[in-house]
Amino acid sequence: MARKFFVGGNWKCNGTAEEVKKIVNTLNEAQVPSQDVVEVVVSPPYVFLPLVKSTLRSDFHVAAQNCWVKKGGAFTGEVSAEMLVNLDIPWVILGHSERRALLNESNEVDRVSNWSKVVIAYEPVWAIGTGKVASPAQAQEVHDELRKWLAKNVSADVAATTRIIYGGSVNGGNCKELGGQTDVDGFLVGGASLKPEFIDIIKAAE
Ligand code: PGA
Repeated sequence: MARKFFVGGNWKCNGTAEEVKKIVNTLNEAQVPSQDVVEVVVSPPYVFLPLVKSTLRSDFHVAAQNCWVKKGGAFTGEVSAEMLVNLDIPWVILGHSERRALLNESNEVDRVSNWSKVVIAYEPVWAIGTGKVASPAQAQEVHDELRKWLAKNVSADVAATTRIIYGGSVNGGNCKELGGQTDVDGFLVGGASLKPEFIDIIKAAE
């Protein structure tokens, strides 16, 4: 099964309601390859999820930036996966290195039970938000290793079908070459996902 290109926009802790509306307008007006070619998912801060969900074009999807590891209950400040499902939010970013570094998240809080619903992002920490991007060869080497790891530790089928995307200073200038690597199935984009340049990155799927 071919792996569909995946482009995620991680807005992190950025934006006002007005800025979010502007970004959504830009995305809504953009000419991009069809859903058959690329899956586009944007991840605004929690408070803007309903706004983005209700105004974003229907061929793009929405992700939360984190969710609580357990079911709901007495966990002040947390949002459960069930709540995301209830609001029809189909994706969530889990285990981002910023959460690991700043909020002490560990591997324990993101165990995987259904690989068909998972996209893996390889993001060298030295490349995140620094303008220093991995070379296409470096990205390919790590993605290839990750796929081998999946083959050995999960299954050949999961290794062949799971999308492994690259993140870390992806921009309109470097996306095409990175996206052309055999095992690079798309991107997780931070800073550039807040700019019109994100459209060029989506087009790297073509
Ligand atoms: P960046 O962030 O594109 O700004 O480097 C990527 C990420 O952290 O997901």
